[in-house]
Amino acid sequence: MTTDPYLLTPGPITTSMSVKKAMLHDWGSWDEDFKSITLSVRQRLLSIANAENSHTCIPIQGSGTFAVEATIATVVPPSGKILILMNGAYGQRMAKICQYMGRSHASLDKGDYAPPRAEELTSLLQADPEITHVAVVHCETSSGILNPVEEIAEAVAQAGRGLIIDSMSAFGALPVDAQQLPFDALISSANKCFEGVPGFGYALIRKSVIEQSSGNAHSLSLDLYDQWQYMEKTGQWRYTPPTHTVVAFLNALDEHQAEGGVEGRLARYSRNRDRLVSGMRDMGFRTLLEDQWLSPIIVTFFSPTHPSFSFNHFYALLKQRGFIIYPGKLTEAESFRVGCIGRLFDEQIDELLHVIANVMQEMGIEQISVPA
Ligand SMILES: *Cc1c(COP(=O)(O)O)cnc(C)c1O
Repeated sequence: MTTDPYLLTPGPITTSMSVKKAMLHDWGSWDEDFKSITLSVRQRLLSIANAENSHTCIPIQGSGTFAVEATIATVVPPSGKILILMNGAYGQRMAKICQYMGRSHASLDKGDYAPPRAEELTSLLQADPEITHVAVVHCETSSGILNPVEEIAEAVAQAGRGLIIDSMSAFGALPVDAQQLPFDALISSANKCFEGVPGFGYALIRKSVIEQSSGNAHSLSLDLYDQWQYMEKTGQWRYTPPTHTVVAFLNALDEHQAEGGVEGRLARYSRNRDRLVSGMRDMGFRTLLEDQWLSPIIVTFFSPTHPSFSFNHFYALLKQRGFIIYPGKLTEAESFRVGCIGRLFDEQIDELLHVIANVMQEMGIEQISVPA
């Protein structure tokens, strides 16, 4: 058996053998066994966020974006207005979602990677009483920045508005306590920090909010109110569920728990990041962000300015040696990204650093210099 390359990407990520093996069975979607797996997944996600009493967990078929779209459609009424805090592609995508479904929205656009701060948010909310909801990306995966969701949540709560957090690439590795961090909805998916395979996303939605969201959604298949009602009544998903993905996810939750839950996972991802960043800096690479904003999820590095460097060539040489990295997403400078999440440990990071050093030599880059 050949080994798959390691995915140093923000999802789908490298999964364990036991998660993969959990998919070797077929399940009836209406069967009691599968229903109890769905219920268990929902309850365990709530418990990880300390949200069992205040929120409900509603899964939905599709990738993470489907869950974001479904959440906005369900939680924000057609008469509402949403302020989107943007500093990258995923914030921009939420604005696009609002355009498609015709939800009134405004944005605070911080460019490629500057963090939105509570002070500016507070004055925006004061200036526009029509804003009913604020949306923020927890870890903006396009730069890797960890946005200050705690201060954002506090400002939103103080202004009496609802908060939607896209925690796709953070939940499972970064602590979320619904009793400390007030949110109406927090969204994530199966294939990020919980290390499952792709196929569904989910939202943790405040019970008092979902109870009042009947008729908000513009789309039948994306109506989380309807999905929730049906699931509560029958224990089943509306429409065909990604059965294999859900079963694999339960297995991934077991592994998450065995690793020490959020704390254990955060410790491993932080170690991956620290090892990666210090090894890359030793070689002469530089990170886009200062240490304070570096997430343990994914890190953006400036590309070497050497004329022999090309991302595509770099990517191909790393892939030959068993590592898949990710292109950068900055408008102003050439960059690439390396993920810290997934089934990756010290030895994979060390091997990657070794491989990058060799690949630089092979590309004829003796001295790595990056934009000042
Ligand atoms: C991965 C991700 C998404 C969802 O992307 P999909 O490709 O639809 O799964 C949304 N927001 C953030 C911050 C992400 O990292």
